[in-house]
Amino acid sequence: MKLKTWTSKDLHLGTRVFLRIDGNVPLKNGRAFDGSRGRLSQTIPEIVKLRAHGARIILATHLGDPGGKVDPKFSVKPVAKLLAQKLGRPIRVLDGLIGASIEREILGADAGEILMIENLRFDPGEEANDPAFAKSLAHLADVYVNNAFGVCHRAHASVAGITKYLPSFAGELVEREIRELDEPPTHPFLLIMGGAKLKTKIPILQHLGGKTDRILLGGAISLPFLLALNRPVPASVKKTIDKEDVRGAERVLRDFMDKLVLPEDLVIDSKGRASDIGLNSIALFTAEIERARSVLWNGPMGIIEEAKGRAGTKAIGRAILKRKLDHSIVGGGDSIEFLESAKLLGGFTHVSTGGGAMLAFLSGEKLPGLEALRV
Ligand code: ADP
Ligand code: MG
Repeated sequence: MKLKTWTSKDLHLGTRVFLRIDGNVPLKNGRAFDGSRGRLSQTIPEIVKLRAHGARIILATHLGDPGGKVDPKFSVKPVAKLLAQKLGRPIRVLDGLIGASIEREILGADAGEILMIENLRFDPGEEANDPAFAKSLAHLADVYVNNAFGVCHRAHASVAGITKYLPSFAGELVEREIRELDEPPTHPFLLIMGGAKLKTKIPILQHLGGKTDRILLGGAISLPFLLALNRPVPASVKKTIDKEDVRGAERVLRDFMDKLVLPEDLVIDSKGRASDIGLNSIALFTAEIERARSVLWNGPMGIIEEAKGRAGTKAIGRAILKRKLDHSIVGGGDSIEFLESAKLLGGFTHVSTGGGAMLAFLSGEKLPGLEALRV
């Protein structure tokens, strides 16, 4: 896929650029966190490039889920603070999103200045892709640049709607993501999927399955598959499994039974949850990784928030790093944060800033955020 990117003829001194970034990073006690290969770090080159062209930069992101209303808990201020530190430049957070006073502040800014509007999801128009809201966002700027790969699968106002009203371009990060993900994998090509979000991930397996040679499943997503195959699952785990997910698993099994590799044993925690894959499963999965030439990974093997739920995900990370794979791609907010903290992220050939967006792109879906940026 080829995307439109901006050149020096699209910008002049003081051009107002609406730069949609994915600043949805974890917050703890009012502080934002982002590793060296995190989504904030990876958006910096685009900001630097725009500044070098003398643009006035209006950063915009969503953060968490404030549900369409202003909630100071979800203010973007901590994100702006962390990003400013990484950039070594000040970022001025404006007190709102759209409207005359915000427009005036932007018009009063100097060339090269970096501003940030408040959390896009403070307005219900963002997730509803409301044309009036998209138009108001467009009013803030002369040019739109999308550097938020993680939300390109969402038809939201700042991702899709706004492109109708401004000259629109892919940022360097989105362009790089597409280039990396478009590279054909060498075979054997192994897909490793874990984590939660079963409702979106099971249908994706259906689409992506045909392109892979083997599919390893761990974490919550593996549980309905175990049930569908009548494998032994403790009652405490069984009762958490959604019937609809079991039907989804049955459909995937019908098409890809011979490719699927499921956990052979589970670690059950004191609350009766399947907190990790067991040692036999780790050995089985490691052996599969040893045979692969390309690996695509999304989602942890267990409840990584708990000390007892981390061994499986760590072992998979180590097994991948031990190999010299042609392609090793990992995506997903939780997966990346964990691998970074475990110092296992360094060797991946590509660390995608998208989880759902990466999987949707690879399974051949049309991404609303990319369609408007195509050449
Ligand atoms: P990513 O952000 O990497 O795409 P997800 O958001 O899909 O991954 O999944 C991460 C979440 O999945 C974590 O919060 C983790 O606790 C949860 N999880 C993983 N395995 C299990 C399990 N067996 N039971 C319950 N939750 C799980
Ligand atoms: Mg997640």
